[in-house]
Amino acid sequence: AAAATPRRLSPTAATSPTQGDARWGDTSSYGAKKKHRVFCQLPNGDWALCTVLKTSGDESVLKVSEGKVLRLKTESLQPANPEILDGVDDLMQLSYLSEPSVLYNLQYRYSQDMIYTKAGPVLVAVNPFKKVSLYGTEYIDAYRNKTMDSPHVYAIADAALREMKRDEVNQSIIISGESGAGKTETAKIAMQYLASLGGGSGIEYEILQTNPILEAFGNAKTLRNDNSSRFGKLIEIHFSTTGRICGAMIQTFLLEKSRVVQSAVGERSYHIFYQLCAGAPASLREKLNLKKVDEFKYLKQSCCYSIAGVDDSQMFRTVTEAMNIVHISKEDQENVLAMVSAVLWLGDVSFTVIDNENHVEIIVDEASKTVAELLGCSIEDLNLALSKRHMKVNNENIVQKLTLAQATDARDALAKSVYASLFEWLVEQINKSLSVGKRRTGRSISILDIYGFESFDKNSFEQFCINYANERLQQHFNRHLFKLEQEQEYVEDGIDWAKVDFEDNQDCLNLFEKKPLGLLSLLDEESTFPNATDLTFANKLKQHLNSNSCFRGERGKAFAVRHYAGEVAYDSSGFLEKNRDLLHMDSIQLLAKCKSSLPQMFASKMLAQSDISISVPYRSSAADSQKLSVAMKFKGQLFQLMQRLESTTPHFIRCIKPNNLQLPAIYEQGLVLQQLKCCGVLEVVRISRSGYPTRMTHQKFARRYGFLLLEDVASQDPLSVSVAILHQFNILPEMYQVGYTKLFFRTGQIGKLEDTRNRT
Ligand code: ATP
Ligand code: MG
Repeated sequence: AAAATPRRLSPTAATSPTQGDARWGDTSSYGAKKKHRVFCQLPNGDWALCTVLKTSGDESVLKVSEGKVLRLKTESLQPANPEILDGVDDLMQLSYLSEPSVLYNLQYRYSQDMIYTKAGPVLVAVNPFKKVSLYGTEYIDAYRNKTMDSPHVYAIADAALREMKRDEVNQSIIISGESGAGKTETAKIAMQYLASLGGGSGIEYEILQTNPILEAFGNAKTLRNDNSSRFGKLIEIHFSTTGRICGAMIQTFLLEKSRVVQSAVGERSYHIFYQLCAGAPASLREKLNLKKVDEFKYLKQSCCYSIAGVDDSQMFRTVTEAMNIVHISKEDQENVLAMVSAVLWLGDVSFTVIDNENHVEIIVDEASKTVAELLGCSIEDLNLALSKRHMKVNNENIVQKLTLAQATDARDALAKSVYASLFEWLVEQINKSLSVGKRRTGRSISILDIYGFESFDKNSFEQFCINYANERLQQHFNRHLFKLEQEQEYVEDGIDWAKVDFEDNQDCLNLFEKKPLGLLSLLDEESTFPNATDLTFANKLKQHLNSNSCFRGERGKAFAVRHYAGEVAYDSSGFLEKNRDLLHMDSIQLLAKCKSSLPQMFASKMLAQSDISISVPYRSSAADSQKLSVAMKFKGQLFQLMQRLESTTPHFIRCIKPNNLQLPAIYEQGLVLQQLKCCGVLEVVRISRSGYPTRMTHQKFARRYGFLLLEDVASQDPLSVSVAILHQFNILPEMYQVGYTKLFFRTGQIGKLEDTRNRT
């Protein structure tokens, strides 16, 4: 079980701004003067804003809060920004960009429910853990009409819309952050803004209704978040020629299947299990033979059945209604719920030992009867699939009896794959319903809600995949914001530009992806050896990767990776099994034989994926593992995702969790700082401040804003027109540079011109 609180990630030194570092505003020659506002570090490590009362020698006397006075070494103080900058809505505006001033600024805003702040081009969202009045029609209209311009998810969604239309380029909104930071809520807020445009035929409403369905089947209560998404999600929203929503497509990533059969104490399995048991009407209860949640073994082990403030039975009605809206027929809904019940009952299927070699048979009881009934198979078939394994050895069919442990594994594997197939099937149905697309223009806005970096006391295969995905996303972020910035245009356009260095994570990505000696290749290779164990896998990594600076072998089955966000220690226990994710042919055959339609469909999909023809009755165990490994499938999905994102203009939202208690009004500086570092927010501000992220050709600039000029310039060349515009609007010289072909602006400069233009 994962530990309750994530271990603090230790950021690499290079990303941590240090005192006296000129890049962060010059603090080296800082001498505290009387009445100056400064930050001092309290014994608990937090920074506090205080006023200098007097300095003598190398010490200063400080007023910390009302009445409280401290004496500290002057050199340990950090300058604070002038009061007029308190709570600025873009961190770029801070004169001193030290850690304490960034933290203080976010905290200052947070305490006034201003949870959104810009960090240059990135939107930072601090989770309020309470209802804040920042949403709804009034706010949506205000952002649409530009009567409100403070940082907001609505502003991001609006920018995406405008840029999609203006540049005719697809857009993406990439949301990241730790578990519980608010990614899914933020994604929904963005969707609401886009949906408010309307689309006709209620498609926008349908799109919003996918949320309760996916959350019911893909979210669960964890120790970190009562509504934690256990899958990654990309929703691509399509637009018609009239600029309205005309359809959508959802792609999901890596559902955490293990939760179906096992969850840690204090956590729950997927919401739908509890919702069904609590909310099913009497007739359905009877049909699906439902029990109370605490009577199912799969649900019982974590000793957690309810979520404070959540009514599962009410949620069941919400989900049913949502399924109606996305056109899942009543019959299909009942089939879906029958599968949910079948999975629950599978957990109660038990075995009896029949010989002295610990071989087993299933016990014929309510559990096995119910499973057989719900799947539409006979008890004999179920028994055969769970207690025996058919294999082909030397061209001869042999039957191997399973031991209790093997049979239990086979049972859990079946439960997990039925559930995962069900989830996949639901997403497909939703996609069918949302793909209206008649008047599609090919333009879209994608919203990505994907798990952030994870580092717990114990990190397993899931964290391994998640953190790998985050390395890729981080590179996308870096490339977009830093690399492009530096490498191309400045030099070509003759711009004076001091190179800013940033943490590049290519080395870590190579560690994962290099062939044949990268983490993923080695994992796959080892997964195909029948005799390999997690230990031989760990040893292989150490043998081949110990010289890699991003890798460190640890004792036994452990190894560590130096990720962008810090070092993570992995325990390779279970890696091979989870990567192979075997469902034995016998179980697939069982599903194929079932009379219910869903199991049949699941089976044919599994067969298609494993590239084994259904006409061959039994294949050897080795054939089972011919299917793509989990890590390889995930890598493929990820590459496809990156490719898609690369053809879009990205908008980044970084969600921050201010405390681990899921409570309002608690702002833990250490926790916030660690997240700001992990996702590169501090770096972004530093680099954006020193760069010129907005750029436009002289021609385009002259065309776009020339008409705002008071004097007639029709006969002049674009460069002269551009310069005239810059002068007329008093754009300060340090805010732009004129290149050979383009104008380069610091962030926020074009906004003024755009506003004037839009008003005219
Ligand atoms: P996970 O990675 O575990 O899925 P997440 O980042 O998606 O986490 P959310 O589920 O979006 O986190 O947010 C966790 C909780 O925080 C929500 O259930 C809600 O209570 C609260 N929350 C997040 N954002 C907001 C917001 N803008 N307003 C009010 N409450 C919010
Ligand atoms: Mg989520």
